[in-house]
Amino acid sequence: MAVTLGTDKLKNFINGEWVDVENSTAVMNPATGEEIVQVPLSGAADVNDAVEKAKKAQKEWALVPAPQRAEILLEVGNIMKERKERLSRLLTMENGKVLEEARGEVQEGIDMAFYMSGEGRRLFGHTTPAELKDKFAMSQRAPVGVVGIITPWNFPIAIATWKSFPAIVAGNAVIWKPATETPMMAYELAKIFEEAGLPKGVLNVVFGSGSQVGDAMVHHDDIRVISFTGSNDTGRNIAAECGRQLKKVSLEMGGKNAVIVMDDADLDLAVEGIIWSAFGTSGQRCTACSRVIVHEDVKEQLEGKILEKMKDLAIGDGLDESNTVGPIINEAGMEKIKSYIEIGKNEGAKLLAGGNALTDGEHGKGNYFAPTLFTDATANMRIAQEEIFGPVISLIPVKSFEEAIEVNNGVIYGLSSSIFTKDVNRVFKAQRDLDTGIVYVNAGTTGAEIHLPFGGTKGTGNGHRDSGVQALDVFTEWKAVYVDYSGKLQRAQIDVE
Ligand code: NAP
Repeated sequence: MAVTLGTDKLKNFINGEWVDVENSTAVMNPATGEEIVQVPLSGAADVNDAVEKAKKAQKEWALVPAPQRAEILLEVGNIMKERKERLSRLLTMENGKVLEEARGEVQEGIDMAFYMSGEGRRLFGHTTPAELKDKFAMSQRAPVGVVGIITPWNFPIAIATWKSFPAIVAGNAVIWKPATETPMMAYELAKIFEEAGLPKGVLNVVFGSGSQVGDAMVHHDDIRVISFTGSNDTGRNIAAECGRQLKKVSLEMGGKNAVIVMDDADLDLAVEGIIWSAFGTSGQRCTACSRVIVHEDVKEQLEGKILEKMKDLAIGDGLDESNTVGPIINEAGMEKIKSYIEIGKNEGAKLLAGGNALTDGEHGKGNYFAPTLFTDATANMRIAQEEIFGPVISLIPVKSFEEAIEVNNGVIYGLSSSIFTKDVNRVFKAQRDLDTGIVYVNAGTTGAEIHLPFGGTKGTGNGHRDSGVQALDVFTEWKAVYVDYSGKLQRAQIDVE
């Protein structure tokens, strides 16, 4: 099934209107090097316009009962379900991930729509006894107002749904800046919201670069929340500016995720988990496995089994369903991976497979990198510490369970970790002692489900979570309400008998 976007140039979606922007740049298919569409390069004036409209829309939207707001999300989920194949194919074209994974990502968005539409009938607050007679006390969630979401190219639809759906069901209006590399999912999702009957101005999409549109959003006084997913450098700068303005900011950033393989592990299962987590999306996932911490007694066996499985990987255009690993997003991504191969070699890690760009035949048209395996890495090497964002694994041998936990935790990031073992005592110790926001047992480092909180500790985030009911905390304020029906002034802490 071939799909086309139906336009050569995207438009912003502001206040329910499709707005043309003069400047634009090309969106390239990383698998073929072909231009897919032109994406607008908007500026601060477009952001200002969107915020003005969103402010008005939000006032009305906040008064719509939450169960009715949720009906729109339900309809969005239904339309996404109908269009799953179209969305998945467009996603593969702009991002490169293979079709099976693209379908999985779109499904994540569908799941999020249905889950958050359920929240319209919950959005639970608390009632609690007041300390004084004839007095009622409760807390409830209130929308924040106009919120800004800034999303990366590696999950162009799932991450946007983790952020925009809770924001919308909670009564906020959204300004969304998608990554310039992958704007088509934003365009498609805006069309779906339009068809689902979302009132004008509740969701606004402003295309453009981070330095123009993103920066204008971060600096805008009337955008009261920034929910950002992307790199640490960008996140840190955004947080600094938001701190200056006392603006709420939720950050989801990089990872250096490890699979631990103990001496009692099912090695074949561990290899499957490693291959899927390390080479899925060509290693360009925030949760990608880029370190394998292996007990020295099974190191050689594991190396052999990984090398064997790597031979089955088929690298190429993700639209061809016989391929299992797609391209790297762009030339800059390729250069970064190449530089880490040199760093790893110079640090003394042993290269067992890959380590090179693929340029033969059809590969020559896109950005392809061979799945790569380093072994005998040590915990402090840069390849074992820094995010490479490509199909590169470093094996780090350790002598004990305790050392494995220490190595896992010895990085600046804290997103995802995994352990393969059959020992129930180790399982429980590991889930307690691994310091990441997500822990898997006998599974790889990827595979989050949307009704659980997604996010990381330490350098990965700043304490917030995407998805799960916890996502609502980013987009709501807690309001405490006291109703005194005694007919007299009762002073808390003072008139208590
Ligand atoms: P990035 O360069 O930081 O970009 C992310 C988004 O921020 C893009 O929309 C980008 O816009 C925008 N941006 C760039 N500069 C900005 C600025 N000065 N002000 C405001 N916005 C700005 O990150 P990336 O390289 O695209 O994404 C990969 C990173 O995301 C990796 O580190 C990965 O681990 C992380 N990630 C984390 C999670 C998680 O949940 N923890 C999930 C996925 C990805 P333009 O690109 O359009 O200029």
